[in-house]
This record gives sequence, C-alpha cells and structure tokens, in this order.
Amino acid sequence: MKSLAIIGAGIAGITLARQLQDSAEVSVFEKSRGFGGRMATRRAGSYQFDHGAQFFTARSQQFQNLINDWVTDNQIQAWLPRILTLDPEKKPFKREWFEPHYVAAPGMNSLCKTLALGLNVTLNTQVASIDAVEQGWLLKDSAGEKLGHFDWVISTSPAPQANELLPDCFAYKSELSTVDFAPCFSLMLGYESNHKLNFDAAVVKNSPLSWVASNSSKPGGRPPSFSLMAHSDNTWARTQLESNIDDVRHRMLEALDKLLGDSLPPPELIAIHRWKYAKADTSCEESFLLDESNSLAACGDWCGGNRVEDAYLSGLKLAEQLQTLLRRRA
Ligand SMILES: Cc1cc2nc3c(=O)[nH]c(=O)nc-3n(C[C@H](O)[C@H](O)[C@H](O)COP(=O)(O)OP(=O)(O)OC[C@H]3O[C@@H](n4cnc5c(N)ncnc54)[C@H](O)[C@@H]3O)c2cc1C
Repeated sequence: MKSLAIIGAGIAGITLARQLQDSAEVSVFEKSRGFGGRMATRRAGSYQFDHGAQFFTARSQQFQNLINDWVTDNQIQAWLPRILTLDPEKKPFKREWFEPHYVAAPGMNSLCKTLALGLNVTLNTQVASIDAVEQGWLLKDSAGEKLGHFDWVISTSPAPQANELLPDCFAYKSELSTVDFAPCFSLMLGYESNHKLNFDAAVVKNSPLSWVASNSSKPGGRPPSFSLMAHSDNTWARTQLESNIDDVRHRMLEALDKLLGDSLPPPELIAIHRWKYAKADTSCEESFLLDESNSLAACGDWCGGNRVEDAYLSGLKLAEQLQTLLRRRA
C-alpha cells in the first residue's frame, strides 16, 4: 500500500483520511492540540464558545447525506435562533433563515473529533518541511524531528500556508498564491448570570463587528452559562492585524457596547482569538489541486468557496480522484 501524509485535521483533512483509509496507509498531522481546525470550540470554566465556524448549511446532496446520518444520532442539530440585523445607527430588524442551519454537538469541533475515530492522527505536530528523497517525501516537524517517509503529501491548510510549505516543484504554486484570505478576531464573553436579549444571533452592519451570537442558545448539550460570541468584520480585521491584541479587544468591546447599550453587565470572562487566515475572500476555481507527477496535492474550503461544506466537498472530491490513482498505481 502507498503511504500518504495529510497535513491538517480540519473537516477537509479528516474527510480525506476517512475516504482513503482502506486504499492507503494514511497519517494525519495536526499542529494544534485538537481536531476541527476552524470548526473550533473553546471551553473556559463553565463557558463554551464556538469561536470559528458558527453553523453550517448543506446545499449539496453529498454533504446532506453526511448530515442526515449524524442528525439521526443527534451529533448534528438544527439551530433555530431568533435572528436580527443590528446597526448602531438604525433600529434592529428581524431576519429569516430560509434553509436549515446546523451545529455539531456538543461543540463545533465534535464533528471532526467523531469523524476521526479510528484514524491515525498525530496532534500537536506542525509539519515544518517536506523534502524530496529517493522515493517520495521526508516530512520533519518544527524541531527538525523526522515524521516519516511518504509516497504522497497532501496539505489541507489555508492556501497561503500551503504555499509556504509545499515544495517549489508543486505544479500549482501560482494558483495557491492567488487565493486571498481575510483575517477575523473572535471575542468571547462569559456572564455570571443568564440575560435576556431580544436575539440569539445578529448580523451586524456599519461596525467593527460583523456577528454577535449567544453560544449558549445553540442546541446539543452546550453548557447553559450565558456566553456571547462576537466576530469582527473581515475588512476591519485587516486594518488591525498588527495592532496590540489588548487594543483590538478594547475596540470590539466598545463596538458591542454601542450595539447593546447597557443591556448587559460587565462580563466575568473576556477572551479573544486572532484568526490570521479566517475566510477565503477569493477562492480557487478548482475543487482541489492535484500534482500527479510529484505526488503532491492541496485541498480545503478555499477550493471552490469558503465554508464548511466547501471544505468537506473539496476533501471528498480529492479522495475520489486519489482512489482511482492509487488503484491504478497498485
Ligand atoms: C471566525 C470564523 C467564522 C466562520 N464561520 C463560518 C460559518 O458560520 N459557516 C461556515 O460554513 N463556515 C464558517 N467559517 C469557515 C469554516 O470554518 C471553514 O470553511 C472550514 O472549517 C475549513 O475547513 P478546512 O479543513 O478546509 O481548513 P481548516 O479547518 O483551517 O483546517 C486546516 C488544519 O490544518 C492545520 N495546519 C495548518 N498548517 C499545518 C502544518 N504545517 N502542520 C500541521 N497542521 C497544520 C490547522 O491547524 C488546521 O487544523 C468560519 C471560519 C472562521 C475562522
């Protein structure tokens, strides 16, 4: 069997690994300490926050099929928030969602965690170099330790990171360099007691913020302690990338005050996370980038979109193509 290294344990990487586990010896390397990538969940005391993806929709039959299985098991649940548009200069207005919006239970990272059961995944391990050796590729971590020799290497990281890591011979370097990722800051707030707001989720206009939601209003056994999640506007975040993180936190809190007035007391917990690569503003037209002659590939949400479903489809379609190649080369 051919050996295959997958970089990243987000939804694209885990989908790819699951699909290929019977056709190759698959090893997944993930630099962070948990599964899910940008489908991220953080716990702090009695609070819990989905500080990356907030929900996902399913517009393709393939993704709907996956969701149907997990909805039956309650691992994925539909979220039906009271949703508003908020603008500091205008009256709030009610919005409707016209398609199901899903969340994983009990946290957004749970989906990848469950999908990864039985896979060979090494966490806390950043792939720092990929060197050509006589047959295949030698991967090393950030301490220079060898991670192993592999016939194939596939990156599922955001395109700018894939561009840095994949060897110069990768045939699609120019495609990688055209994908533009926008940053985002996630502000997490935990409150000692429960509070009644007139919304569970809000799209925000004309503000440094773009989204505010009560994480504790989501279904699926999340802790009941009242928690708010605010995301920055992507364009605003670009202007703040080099700013001191305390200043960014302060400006986001000010923006939230402007929106909600004195409807909330000071939070008990305040945390902030910076996503340097949050959302593909321009994506690649292909569903994946496969360089057959060098046995290298890249995939992820930025192939065809910028959402959870796009990441899943990119991993799935690359897996189908690789299965054919692996069978042909066996
Ligand atoms: C703030 C925010 C809000 C969002 N909101 C939504 C939403 O509401 N709905 C929606 O559908 N989508 C949303 N998204 C987008 C969604 O999260 C992504 O589309 C999806 O999770 C991408 O999955 P992926 O597997 O392609 O990439 P990722 O989840 O980024 O996975 C890539 C993985 O590779 C790892 N990695 C990178 N480099 C290395 C290396 N050198 N070695 C080892 N590991 C490495 C990373 O740590 C990461 O875990 C949001 C994203 C953010 C950041």
